Formats: sequence, structure tokens, C-alpha cells
Amino acid sequence: MNTDPDCIFCKIVAGQIPAKKAYEDAELLAFHDIHPWAPVHVLIIPKLHLASLAEAGPEHEALLGRMLALAPRLMRELGVNDGFRSVINTGPNGGQEVYHLHMHVMGGPRPWARG
Ligand code: 5GP
Ligand code: ZN
Repeated sequence: MNTDPDCIFCKIVAGQIPAKKAYEDAELLAFHDIHPWAPVHVLIIPKLHLASLAEAGPEHEALLGRMLALAPRLMRELGVNDGFRSVINTGPNGGQEVYHLHMHVMGGPRPWARG
């Protein structure tokens, strides 16, 4: 599996940096954002290192589908019943800060800190 030793999210996958995990399987990891915008704010990532959505190709279609399909299940499990926001920031103009593909999934009662 492709990993980047300098990538902060690869370090979370490897257990080298702690994170509050919400879900894990062979391909995916979900953990709570360290600076949440909403009462519930998780990041869903593939365990393999893919820098951004711009790097995704046809070989990643199933993985991307699994990331998206995990969002409603996770929100249900975390008690979010009134809707949620899913965001993937891509590249400098997309506001991406961490270059390991991740989907923000945010929910819970408003007002939110951001978003
Ligand atoms: P981006 O702007 O790249 O879409 O979002 C990166 C997100 O990763 C930010 O919301 C930031 O709070 C979160 N983040 C950055 N470093 C860490 C970390 O070490 N642990 C956790 N749990 N979240 C992080
Ligand atoms: Zn990575």
C-alpha cells in the first residue's frame, strides 16, 4: 500500500500520531477532526496515501464510493439525525491543507463554529 512517511494522516493510519477514531476497516479510517467546525466533525480517509482528489483515477472509484457511503452510516452511529455536510477540499485554490485525501463530514445542532 502506498504511504508517505512525511504525511501526517499516514502517521495517524500507522498509529504514530494519536487520533480519536470513529471507524476503521482494511481500506478506510475515520477520526474526529482536531479543530472541529461542528458538534460532530470527522474526517474519512483512505489508508493508502493519495495526495488529493485530483490524483484519483478510475482505479480509485470503488474506494471513493466506499468513502461516500460510509458518511451516512457514521453520522447515524454518532447520533447525527438532522443532516450533515460532506466536503472535500482539493488543491491550493480548494483550500486543502493536508495533502492526503480526506472527506470532512460535519453535523450536529447549529450554530456551528464554522461552515
Ligand atoms: P483540509 O483543509 O486539508 O481540507 O483539512 C485538514 C483538516 O485536518 C483540518 O480540519 C484540520 O483541523 C485537520 N487536522 C490537521 N491535523 C490534524 C491532526 O493531527 N489530527 C486530527 N485529528 N485532525 C487534523
Ligand atoms: Zn498520507
